[in-house]
Amino acid sequence: MRGKGLILWLTGLSGAGKTTIARGVECILKERDCLVEVLDGDEIRLYLSQELGFTKEDREINIRRIGYVANLLSRNGIVVIVAAISPYRAIRNEIRIMSENFIEIYVDTPLKVCEARDVKGLYAKARSGQIKNFTAIEDLYEAPINPEIICRTTKESIEECIDKVIAELERRDYILKYTYKTS
Ligand code: ADP
Repeated sequence: MRGKGLILWLTGLSGAGKTTIARGVECILKERDCLVEVLDGDEIRLYLSQELGFTKEDREINIRRIGYVANLLSRNGIVVIVAAISPYRAIRNEIRIMSENFIEIYVDTPLKVCEARDVKGLYAKARSGQIKNFTAIEDLYEAPINPEIICRTTKESIEECIDKVIAELERRDYILKYTYKTS
């Protein structure tokens, strides 16, 4: 089923679960024949924003680049799933305003849980001073005030978070409800 283009913007701390949820949602949408692309923050930094660091200015440029690409794709009928810390509320809102269909998903995982997970070993490096300006340690993270979806990963399993996103897309008629054929 080819649906409307839209941007699913996952924001949250490093290790919150953005990539995990994004890949799960991608998988289900592909099964339902949607055109999907994931723009993952780590990959974007590797391929599109290699020269950028982690100052406020550089982070803003990085997020605006992701927003620009997401818009190009979504206006051509693609469901774009962005998984990037995207710490600044103002920039996320700027992208929301310039996008036709924008769904913000706050992956709400407290710092102490992300730090305990330390999936990529980055929190240990940030605490020991090997990484500077790490989000929520030395740098700001501004949680969304009115996101369309909140995934509370300390209370909801990975599957529940993914199902919640899919259910909301169905509720908003971005994708058709999945129905089993009985005949
Ligand atoms: P991010 O992309 O936000 O940096 P990742 O998806 O790379 O985070 O890592 C999140 C980690 O948290 C994974 O190891 C994942 O298995 C774990 N996790 C535990 N519970 C959840 C949940 N409910 N949703 C998403 N991830 C979860």
